[in-house]
Amino acid sequence: MSKTRAEPVRTCVACRLEAGKGALVRFVREPGGAVQEDPSGRAPGRGAYLHDDPECRRLALKKRSLERALRLRSTEKGDNP
Ligand SMILES: [Zn+2]
Repeated sequence: MSKTRAEPVRTCVACRLEAGKGALVRFVREPGGAVQEDPSGRAPGRGAYLHDDPECRRLALKKRSLERALRLRSTEKGDNP
């Protein structure tokens, strides 16, 4: 393992593939509970990443991947039995 990593790797919450932060868009949970895109990547709060790809955005919406990753509903840990 002598490869140098130019940038940190994060996992896209939609397709679960890893990618460099440069290829991903960060989303943060605002104090009010809304999920907001964070183009600067520096907004405070819990963050989740998605590929900058319409397909992943659609998948995330459909699967509520962002909501899950950001734990918008913290009443239960597992949603499906
Ligand atoms: Zn993805």
